[in-house]
Amino acid sequence: MTAKTKPNARAKASPRKKAAARDWTAAFRVGPGRKIRLSAWNPDEDGGFEKKVTRKRTAKIIEEIDDLQYRLYAESKQALLVVLQAIDAGGKDGTIRRVFGPINPQGVRVTSFKKPTELERSHDFLWRIHRAVPPLGHIGLFNRSHYEDVLVVRVRKLAPPEIWKARYDHINAFERMLRDHGTRVVKFFLYISRDEQRDRMQRRLDDPGRNWKFSEADLEERKHWDDYMAAFEDALSRCSTADAPWYVVPANRKWFRDHLVATVLRDTLRAMDPRTPPSPDLSGIVIDG
Ligand code: AMP
Ligand code: MG
Repeated sequence: MTAKTKPNARAKASPRKKAAARDWTAAFRVGPGRKIRLSAWNPDEDGGFEKKVTRKRTAKIIEEIDDLQYRLYAESKQALLVVLQAIDAGGKDGTIRRVFGPINPQGVRVTSFKKPTELERSHDFLWRIHRAVPPLGHIGLFNRSHYEDVLVVRVRKLAPPEIWKARYDHINAFERMLRDHGTRVVKFFLYISRDEQRDRMQRRLDDPGRNWKFSEADLEERKHWDDYMAAFEDALSRCSTADAPWYVVPANRKWFRDHLVATVLRDTLRAMDPRTPPSPDLSGIVIDG
């Protein structure tokens, strides 16, 4: 046992402390109506956890998510939509690979949103999003999302302010409608520091195996770092609701990022409490041969 886990393990297990320990992720949830400032968050945060122990715990949690997913599918009355947003090199792809990799692919659908096509642009901004929302019984994973329409669109002035400013309300109404249909929405902002972004981009330049991930366009976006952070702050402050909360995920340390995301998803699925349908009376059935 490491020095870091010892005090916790020995702490008196009062019900209150137990509940607090269970809900440690709440500290990373953006309270509805709360105006957040990202400068107050630490992208290096590790929760006071130890890396090796935490990795093992994450693997166990993912096993439980797989089991809950199976029940969600069998029940087919609810769905879970997971939104991942981050700055370039923020770790969206890595999170998908590491947290969702071990989960049964039949129950999970991943959608990556790129620059809208001409057809998509001829529709309202939620059209392509709505089509990708998971059906009941499934988990849907958005790699970028409708939030791009208040992030890149705002920062790169792809639409005038009166257009994107109205979208926060559109998004909240849309997500409430999904919830009323039985679709739980959970949103993660993977928060890395500017220095970490530089290091990750440099690795993409230096490592031939990662060269394909390097994009000069990302360097252009990096120049707008402060504008992006301001846009994220508004999106997170205005669109974190009780039904569709945003989490700020400190993401400089990948193992902590994965652990927080996996824990929140496990807890969300537990709260949804999916149940396999009750067994019918099968007692008279004989399989011949
Ligand atoms: P990547 O995720 O690296 O494949 O890049 C996808 C690109 O598509 C990013 O530069 C996004 O900002 C961009 N993108 C995604 N959604 C939108 C949108 N609604 N409007 C404009 N650009 C978008
Ligand atoms: Mg990119």
